[in-house]
Amino acid sequence: MTSAIKLAIVGVGKIVYDQHVPAIAARADDFSLVATASRHHTIDHIPGFTSIEAMLAAHPDIDAVSLCMPPQYRYAAARQALAAGKHVLLEKPPGATLSEVADLAAFAAEKGVTLFASWHSRHAPGVQPAKAHLAAHVPTAVQVRWKEDVRQWHPHQDWIWQVGGLGVFDPGINALSILTEILPSAMFLTQATLSFPENRDAPIAADLHFQDAADIKVHAEFDWRPTAQQGWDIIVTTVGGELRLTDGGARLWINGAGQALAQEAEYLSLYRRFAALIRAGQSDVDVAPLRHVADAFMLGRRKAVAAFYD
Ligand code: NAP
Repeated sequence: MTSAIKLAIVGVGKIVYDQHVPAIAARADDFSLVATASRHHTIDHIPGFTSIEAMLAAHPDIDAVSLCMPPQYRYAAARQALAAGKHVLLEKPPGATLSEVADLAAFAAEKGVTLFASWHSRHAPGVQPAKAHLAAHVPTAVQVRWKEDVRQWHPHQDWIWQVGGLGVFDPGINALSILTEILPSAMFLTQATLSFPENRDAPIAADLHFQDAADIKVHAEFDWRPTAQQGWDIIVTTVGGELRLTDGGARLWINGAGQALAQEAEYLSLYRRFAALIRAGQSDVDVAPLRHVADAFMLGRRKAVAAFYD
């Protein structure tokens, strides 16, 4: 029996209340939530501090921290936590640039602590069964439709429209995290169009074309404008038929037949993995999804579209 890892959360907001807090409570054998650091928000019955410095000074016994603020503000907190010898979980996307994440990975290795760049969608119940199916049934084409109403899912989140906030890639990177997990070979971007509202610094839609070394074509459409017919679907045509991974990876259909899956428990699985990495003395920093986003900003044609107001 090993003792629970003393955990702190930095950047308390929507995803912390919705997912991190219940998942940590459900994994009480692995984690004990001992403190938070957030400028305006706290969690009931947990000591709260307004800065990570104050929190680490008051609780030197903290073993690990989950960093859940917007990606533009994650690097400085991660550096501080790693410098203090804490294990670190990064919410997705792991940072604002690839280079800052590489710096964090090197620093974690130097300090001998775990860095976990988490991708919650990879823990959706259909993802590993889809990966196993595609290992045995060669894909010939892939279509991704990640379409949601930004006003419903991201009301008044200014950071998401600012540089580094990624715009529609904030949800779209979840699709990329699944694709890079389930496809048997690595894909790369060949063409992209990014639609920027004329009053915003981040795209509201993206149309992306990838291929892999075997010339398998992957077409992805991310869009934040639909108010009806929202969906988070990946459709893979294979030599033997069709695989449909729907609802962000929660449901799987193979040749039209729904597959029996475990219940959705992405964040429970995420924290199980974080605990296993800490106990094994390992890190997991896969930047492939963020690299595809960076490629899209590098190769994508920029198209101005109607201004967006909340
Ligand atoms: P959020 O609620 O808008 O922000 C989280 C918290 O970060 C805020 O409550 C705020 O707390 C802190 N924060 C905001 N701006 C900051 C700044 N400039 N400097 C330092 N801290 C700041 O965002 P969220 O929806 O929870 O998303 C946070 C991260 O989780 C994002 O990377 C997102 O991609 C990821 N995520 C979100 C969801 C979702 O459904 N929302 C799902 C999965 C993953 P204080 O004001 O108290 O400091």
